[in-house]
Amino acid sequence: MNLLTQTEAILADLIAFPTVSIDPNVEMMAHMATLLEDAGARVDLFHDATGKKANLFATLGPDIEGGVVLSGHSDVVPVTDQDWSTDPFELSERGDFLMGRGTCDMKGFIAATIAMAKPFSAHTLRRPIHFCFTHDEETGCVGAKSLVPELQKRGFKPSIAIIGEPTEMRIIEGHKGCCEYTTRFTGLEGHGSNPDRGVNAVAYAVKYATRLMELAEELKGRAPRDSRFDPPWTTMNIGKLQGGHAHNVIPGKAELEWEMRPVQYGDSEFMKEMLEAYIETDLLPAMRAVSPRADISTQVIGEVVGLEPMEVNMARTLIAALTGCETADVVPFNTEAGLFQQLGMSAVVCGPGSIAQAHKPDEYLSRAQLQDCLTMLEGLGQSCAA
Ligand SMILES: [Zn+2]
Repeated sequence: MNLLTQTEAILADLIAFPTVSIDPNVEMMAHMATLLEDAGARVDLFHDATGKKANLFATLGPDIEGGVVLSGHSDVVPVTDQDWSTDPFELSERGDFLMGRGTCDMKGFIAATIAMAKPFSAHTLRRPIHFCFTHDEETGCVGAKSLVPELQKRGFKPSIAIIGEPTEMRIIEGHKGCCEYTTRFTGLEGHGSNPDRGVNAVAYAVKYATRLMELAEELKGRAPRDSRFDPPWTTMNIGKLQGGHAHNVIPGKAELEWEMRPVQYGDSEFMKEMLEAYIETDLLPAMRAVSPRADISTQVIGEVVGLEPMEVNMARTLIAALTGCETADVVPFNTEAGLFQQLGMSAVVCGPGSIAQAHKPDEYLSRAQLQDCLTMLEGLGQSCAA
C-alpha cells in the first residue's frame, strides 16, 4: 500500500468516530495512540475531569528540546440540520474527493501525520517530531488550553508548531484572536415614575455599551502600522443587548453580549483595564449609592488568542523550504496556533483542504491536497533527520 492509500484507510477509520465536540473522543484517541505506539512513538493521553475527553501528545525521535509539533483537533462540528448526500460518518469517494465530516477540518491532516509516523521512525531523527491532538477546538480551544500548560509543566520545549487546519497548503502566519463576553448588570427595580429610587440596569448597560464603542475607536489608533488584517485593527462588536419589562418599570436586570477580535495581545489587556477602571470609578459607585447590592459582572464565554505575524518565524521558514511556498498570509478564522506561540514556539497554520469546505454539508478533501500534505511531511522527516 502506498502512503496515500494508507492515509485514506486511516482517515476512513477516523471519520467513523463521530467526534462531534459535545460527544466523547476517547475511543478515537485510544485508536490513534495504538497506531502511533505501533510506529514506535512515546504516547501520552491526557484525560479531562469527566474522563470522556482526552488530548494526545506523542513523540518520535530524541528526548530533547527544539522539536516540531504537528497539531490537529480531534473534534468536528455537528451535522444536525445539514443536508448530506452521504453518511457524514462514513468516508465516501466522489471522483478524487474524499467526503465525510472532518475530512478537511481536520482529520485529513491528522491521518497524514499518523501515516507518516512509520516513515518518520525509519529515519534516525536528530530533531524530535511531536504529535499533538486536542479535543474541543471548535468550542473555544478547550483541549489545547489545558494541554499546552501541561506540556510546559512536563518540560517539553518544542520550538516549532504546525497547525494543520485547512489552508490548501498555503502558509498562514497570522490570524486575529476571538474573545467573547457576556456582561450582566444587576440594578434595582422600581416604578418608572420615580427613576431615582431604582437602579436602571438597562441604562447602565447602555453606558457600558457606549464606553465599549469609544474604546473600539481607540483600538483603531492602536493598530500595528504594518497590519495586514482586514480591518487592520482589533474590532469590537456588540451582538445583543437585552433587559427590562415595560415602559413604566425600572429594569433590575440587563445583559450585554459582545466580542472583540484582537490583532495583538496588548489590545485585550488594554480593553480589560479600561473597562475595569470605568466600572470601578464611574458605574458601580453611582449604582451602589442607590442600591448596595447593585453589581456588574462579566462572564468569559471564550478567549482564543490570535497568531501574531512575526518578522522572524522559524516555522514559516521551515514550511516555506518544504513546500516552495514563498509567501505567507493572514486569515480571518481562529486556530490553536496562538496558544503555541504564547509558549514561545514559532507557529504557522498549514494543512490540506479548503476552509470553504469546513463545517459544510458534504465536506470533502481532495486527494491532490492530501498528497501535497504527505509530500510536505516527507520533507519534514528528512529535514529532522539531517
Ligand atoms: Zn478546525
